[in-house]
Amino acid sequence: MARTPLMAGNWKMNLDHHEATHLVQKLAWTLKDAKHDYSQVEVAVLPPFTDLRSVQTLVDADKLDIRYGGQDLSMHTAGAYTGEISPVFLAKLGCTYVAVGHSERRQYHGEDEAVTNAKVKNALAHDLVPILCVGEELEVRKAGNHVSHTLAQLDGGLQGLTAEQVAGLVIAYEPVWAIGTGEVATPDDAQELCGAIRARIAELYDQSTADAVRVLYGGSVKSGNVAAIMAKPDVDGALVGGASLDAEEFAKIVRFQS
Ligand code: PEP
Repeated sequence: MARTPLMAGNWKMNLDHHEATHLVQKLAWTLKDAKHDYSQVEVAVLPPFTDLRSVQTLVDADKLDIRYGGQDLSMHTAGAYTGEISPVFLAKLGCTYVAVGHSERRQYHGEDEAVTNAKVKNALAHDLVPILCVGEELEVRKAGNHVSHTLAQLDGGLQGLTAEQVAGLVIAYEPVWAIGTGEVATPDDAQELCGAIRARIAELYDQSTADAVRVLYGGSVKSGNVAAIMAKPDVDGALVGGASLDAEEFAKIVRFQS
């Protein structure tokens, strides 16, 4: 089955709403100049919550094909949850995607499988596509447990979901030791885990669900390494942090160009 690759830029806690507007405009112009075909490679950005309205205004006004989403969401929908962001708000702002269980959420906010699972379900309940992030820390890899660790995170995140729901998900394999470190996994490392994730979904559900789900690699992706990673059969795109803050660099990544 043909899966449309997805290149998603995770801006993390960078760029205010003015800078966000500028970056999206520059990205759109750069991709237009390159005659980018968005039906061949989908492009998304995950700005801070406070930038979403600016990004939406620009995307709507200029009829851009760039999609956008949140970097997190609440497991609740409304009520006394100070500081939380409801999926209702994200959906109203035109978000397509929302990242769930990013390693920085797991590390700094103690999000475990129960939390990521609740967030995945809440996103789906409001027609947002979760980008479920999984991946191992360096010690886990050194001990040779990276596959079982990552698949346990996957199993936890998918608890109670139907095959139809899983088929529409995006899973991002992000080895923690490669995030923001400049230390990139080899294309074979990326394939090993992206393939293992797909195989696990086939085991838990069925082959057509596994063939439909998009599995991204994330961790120090740059224009210089993207082509080799994207050449792997089970890698359907990239979740890009630092390099997505530079429009020209991210446009090259979107086009798998060095
Ligand atoms: C990320 O934050 O998801 C990420 C992959 O970051 P970076 O590309 O900077 O390693």
